[in-house]
Amino acid sequence: MNQPSEQKESAGCSSEEIKASPESSSPIMVVSPVTGQSHPAAWIPTADDIAAQLVQHCPDADIDMVRRAYDYASAGHAGQLRLSGDPYIMHPASVALTLAQMGFDEHTVAAGLLHDTVEDTDSSIDELDELFGEQVADIVDGVTKINMMTFETKEEAQSENIRKMILSMAHDIRVPLVKLADRLHNMSTLDFQKPHKRQRIAQETMDIYAPLANRLGLHLFKQKLEDYSFRYLHPDAYAEITKWLEDNQIVERQLISKVIGKIKAIMDENGIEGRVFGRIKQTYSIYRKMVAQKTPLDEMHDIIAFRVIVRDLKDCYAMLGLVHVLWKPVPGRFKDYISMPKANGYQSLHTTVIGPEGERIEIQIRTEEMNNMAEHGVAAHWMYKERDHTIAVQDMPQFQWLRDLMQRQRDESDSKEFMNSLRMDLFNDEIYVFTPRGAVKQLPKGATPLDFAFLIHTDIGSHCVGAKINGKLQPIASELKNGDMVEIITDKNRHPHRDWLKIVKTSKARSRIQHYLRTEERIAAIALGKEMLEKEGRKNDFNVIKASKDGRLQIVLPEFSLPGIDDLFAAVGIGKLTPKKVIARLLAVLHPKPEQDSGTEERTAKNEDAQKHQDGIFIKGLDDSLIHFAKCCKPVPGDQIVGFISRGRGVIVHTASCPHVQNLESERLISVYWNNEESKPFPAEIIITGNNEMGLLAKISMLFLQESININALQIKSSIDGKSQMDFTVEVRDAVHLYQTIDKLRMIENVLEVRRGAADMG
Ligand code: MN
Repeated sequence: MNQPSEQKESAGCSSEEIKASPESSSPIMVVSPVTGQSHPAAWIPTADDIAAQLVQHCPDADIDMVRRAYDYASAGHAGQLRLSGDPYIMHPASVALTLAQMGFDEHTVAAGLLHDTVEDTDSSIDELDELFGEQVADIVDGVTKINMMTFETKEEAQSENIRKMILSMAHDIRVPLVKLADRLHNMSTLDFQKPHKRQRIAQETMDIYAPLANRLGLHLFKQKLEDYSFRYLHPDAYAEITKWLEDNQIVERQLISKVIGKIKAIMDENGIEGRVFGRIKQTYSIYRKMVAQKTPLDEMHDIIAFRVIVRDLKDCYAMLGLVHVLWKPVPGRFKDYISMPKANGYQSLHTTVIGPEGERIEIQIRTEEMNNMAEHGVAAHWMYKERDHTIAVQDMPQFQWLRDLMQRQRDESDSKEFMNSLRMDLFNDEIYVFTPRGAVKQLPKGATPLDFAFLIHTDIGSHCVGAKINGKLQPIASELKNGDMVEIITDKNRHPHRDWLKIVKTSKARSRIQHYLRTEERIAAIALGKEMLEKEGRKNDFNVIKASKDGRLQIVLPEFSLPGIDDLFAAVGIGKLTPKKVIARLLAVLHPKPEQDSGTEERTAKNEDAQKHQDGIFIKGLDDSLIHFAKCCKPVPGDQIVGFISRGRGVIVHTASCPHVQNLESERLISVYWNNEESKPFPAEIIITGNNEMGLLAKISMLFLQESININALQIKSSIDGKSQMDFTVEVRDAVHLYQTIDKLRMIENVLEVRRGAADMG
């Protein structure tokens, strides 16, 4: 049996824990955040219950699909239990019911039913797609991704990024809504978790999910999440406030009805239509005020809040004036959130007045539409659709996207079309991707895994060999998409390549690569040049290292117009100067011999250009004593060979088929030949695995053409998972040519893997 996720959240839970009984003995009641009705937590909503709620708001909804989702989830979770001991289906059914009550469409409700099936049952996104359609599958996919995220710091969590992240990841506002409904139900049954788990989950809810609900304007969700969390985070304060409210509820209720009566009276007198509500504030909000005002509970004001809901904007301000005539306003407490809406779109007039019994009371005045937005935020629109209302979303830049959606909704009579347009791309120029640990990284559109790798850390970028995007191996040149989860595969033997400059989009990655190429090439050149000079010096009984320390080597620098010793070594290392020439010139300067003529030098230099190893290896411009044979493959004359410029050990010669060569930096490979051996075409097999994309073969062929590689044979095998394997039999100049080409092939988009075939190995 698979472990349901809510049990997984309590990592390491055992069967003993599943049977654990709650510490609180009173039956746990769940209050619907939408209807306000309460029912025992153990209640399992049926498909009928959910369908009944759904058709209230969406009469045309595909009820059959929702019923199928209910049955599918029931079957999938069959045998699984909640920590409470209830059948697991209770959880997704409750989540779906909340979503249906909020007036969401059948796709959202079905996704609520199915939201844990991919994680906890044998189901898959593909299967959901097939059975319930793309929209449902996408929402479940998004919710599953959120479940994989971890939030490391409070700052990270509370930043504006939360909103951007969730929305951009989701591409669909319904994803965070399902997640919030999921979390809300889990919070309502948190008693069944072990104490330290409760603490952690409550903290996470307070830090992440309540602010998220707030960002989305889901005020009721936010309040419920906060109150549930508060209960576990500050149990003493929670108990104190709850008890105080119970002890004082008669007095408070009397005050509430008195104030409501007075407000209704002035509304009637002035012909203003509307509704008035009075309520005791949520426990967490009372607690926050106690802490902020450093006031004991008995001396707390502002515990009661009233809400007046009127027809229109004009009535809001009229009502405010009437209230201020009735009761004296507390100076500095009036706030006009109608003309200055809050960031989440909240609109209302707030004032605090001295009430009929000398109590401070807070009064909020708003229209029906504003009230709906205040309570349901982005969800408000669904609530209103059936009441034949049009939401007046004011000119709020924060909700510009919502306004655009409303506009589109008016233009598109088809509600399916509208739902599709909800899959918004809020941030056109930037994408947000995730690290495997759930941290969010922002990149420009078109960025590749390589950009991502350099953004994480220069070391990760520098050693990047590949990337897993959403768990699948992808080339480092692939374009990242919003919401991708990217895992970088590194290999310490890999280093930045010049071709990388073509595939990065960020200036950070570009400058890091360029910096690396400049310094590393130079470091390698310096090390190699130093070795070459040392060996050449030894032949002439001249200690180059000693000379570089005592300043004698510096004497030769002006001769070659070089600024420093390292520049001299580098010039030798990259082959600009031969070691023989440098040592000869050095000896000539230090010990001038009048009979020496300059012509000798030139001839010497020419002879050096092609040296012969005693074993018959031919390397352009390199002293034979700097050649070493690799221990791994021990090349013998006649083998196809390739040279690798090591750091400080000269050139290592490998057989062309040595498996180690595949992992060496292709930029450091050099062509080497056995003496007297003609350079002849080098047959090789290259095996490329790629995504079945149009034009991939063309791109590969083009690269072969550019590299002057002949293709002798090609076999293509396609597999059902959308990949194909292409086996090329080619002719290259030599092994260096082969490995450098393999490196370039790896940069091609949709190429997943390139390796050398076994056909010619040996
Ligand atoms: Mn869940």
